[in-house]
Amino acid sequence: MPKDDGVRQILEPQEVKSLMTLPMMNEGKLIGFLGFDSVKAHHYYTEKEELLLKVFSDMLVNVTNRKLMEKELVAAKIKAEESDKLKTSFLANMSHEIRTPMNGIIGFAGLLKETSFNDQEHNEYVGIIEKSGQRMLNIINDIVDISKIESGQMELEMNEVDVNNKLSSLYSKFKDEAFSKDLELICNADLRIKENIVTDEDKLVSVFNNLLGNALKFTHSGAITFGYDKVNDFIQFYVKDTGEGITPMQRELIFERFRQGNESLTRKYEGSGLGLSISKAYIQLLGGEIWVESEVGKGSNFYFTVPIQVETV
Ligand code: ADP
Repeated sequence: MPKDDGVRQILEPQEVKSLMTLPMMNEGKLIGFLGFDSVKAHHYYTEKEELLLKVFSDMLVNVTNRKLMEKELVAAKIKAEESDKLKTSFLANMSHEIRTPMNGIIGFAGLLKETSFNDQEHNEYVGIIEKSGQRMLNIINDIVDISKIESGQMELEMNEVDVNNKLSSLYSKFKDEAFSKDLELICNADLRIKENIVTDEDKLVSVFNNLLGNALKFTHSGAITFGYDKVNDFIQFYVKDTGEGITPMQRELIFERFRQGNESLTRKYEGSGLGLSISKAYIQLLGGEIWVESEVGKGSNFYFTVPIQVETV
């Protein structure tokens, strides 16, 4: 009679007269079956044959295991090399980003020591020193923020925020810069409507600063529009521009740490490449999502959501 003890199984379909299979187990998980069959005549498998099958099965499990481990090791090595390359390029960019404003500060402070300048020149040089100092401070703030995020030390401070009021302050902050670049700045906020949300105001403002700053940096004609819509239990904010746009390949990378659309040292635009990854981390901490839709040459639309109320447990 066929014996079925969970390990040894004999089946008798039309062509196969006898069959013995063993489950191949890897760390308690079934990864396949291995077996002998007999086509010509019935065959009752012996203990020795069962042992042989077991030895083969163990060998196969070991080889499969080794192959899997090799694959994981190769993937980990590629990831480590990629992250190493990124950090090296980040450090190169950072020292470039820090050295440029530093040279501005040292150079123009040196020039100011000379007394032969008129008021206009004097003010111009002081302006350059101020701008360079601000640029340095932004870079340092970005590095401190990303380090806090990476080490899990970034904390939230929730408060009630009047959305329309906040957007209108952002408009006041950015309008002069837009005007000086001949760009239209459109803020879709209605101060007559109270739209309060509970969120971390500083983080929300920081995301807007980054998105509006980028929109101004990468747009050379047309308009920048920002505002919000209510979508279910979320406020969906947007910052839309008619700028250079972002290629599909860049779109995959720009929210990652240290990544910029153009990563060469000779790139046109200044920036640490940390802004969008910090924004993404903030929005995730706040319980929302951030994404971009864009067409090269036409512009980019950045969206992010924030819950209207915080979940209370
Ligand atoms: P940074 O601006 O310091 O380079 P970000 O993380 O803010 O860093 O942005 C990463 C990259 O995403 C930018 O270098 C740029 O290539 C691309 N990018 C971001 N915003 C825009 C935009 N509005 N239009 C076109 N490209 C953008």
